[in-house]
Amino acid sequence: MSVVIKVSNTIMKKMMATYPTNRKLPNGAVFASKITGVSITGYKSGKVLFQGQLEEQEAQRWDPSIQTNKNYVPDDKLYHSSVLGSDEVGTGSYFGPLTTAAVYVPEEDIPFLEQLGVKDSKKLSDPEIIKMAKKIIKKFAFHVVNIMPHDYNRLTKKYNQAQLKAISHNFVLLKVLNKIKPDRPDHILIDEFISKSLFFKYISGQPATISTSTIFKEKGEGYHLSVAAASIIARYYSLQSIDELSASANMTLPIGSGQNVDIVAAKLIKEGLNLDLFAKLHFANTKKAYQIAQTL
Ligand code: MN
Repeated sequence: MSVVIKVSNTIMKKMMATYPTNRKLPNGAVFASKITGVSITGYKSGKVLFQGQLEEQEAQRWDPSIQTNKNYVPDDKLYHSSVLGSDEVGTGSYFGPLTTAAVYVPEEDIPFLEQLGVKDSKKLSDPEIIKMAKKIIKKFAFHVVNIMPHDYNRLTKKYNQAQLKAISHNFVLLKVLNKIKPDRPDHILIDEFISKSLFFKYISGQPATISTSTIFKEKGEGYHLSVAAASIIARYYSLQSIDELSASANMTLPIGSGQNVDIVAAKLIKEGLNLDLFAKLHFANTKKAYQIAQTL
């Protein structure tokens, strides 16, 4: 068993004084101490690892949230649990949909994803995404909500983008919970994009909501591969949609929201195409595209 906490420089110095090094320093460590019932290792990164029978009690001395948070799950325990994870793509891209996916990964299938090389979808090429997504879709219970630009533009008149994302995450997670019944995940994990309290505020008007014991983690794909799998599925659907939109525009629609995007959007306007079908209109790119279109 182990617990990892993150501490400030000041606390790290206090810990070094409290736990004198009495064993070999692992790579990147600033102190490594063994006391009765627990080994404590502090790292340059500010992380401190507690291992042994009394790891929680000892960690609580430095991070009281461990004590007060009944839902606290140590990172390594979470990684090896059965988790329903979710992630979304398309937030920062002017063209294309907002795509949110949830995948349920039982603990016994974690090695399958490890062998597949599943990791952060941003670090994978498009062909890798397609290959992996097909295998994940075949094996796991999942659900995707792919909000194409026309619907996205309608919905963002009613909700802000973060709220729309929260509603989408809640929706796909509930769908998968239903699909896997009577099985239940040990945990639900969301790749954090807003605070947990804001998330639950945003979904409070929904007909059903996920449990408040849901875990939120930035870079969630590092905490459980279900989130990495969800990001791969979301990217796969997003890629397909952008291909379809590119085909109907007869133009390759670029990802992102840079200047190249403005120019392509201006060309679409010039061709008489309706941007509402291709792009997220509330982005600043829309105004720039109309300005450029006048000069074409
Ligand atoms: Mn994410």
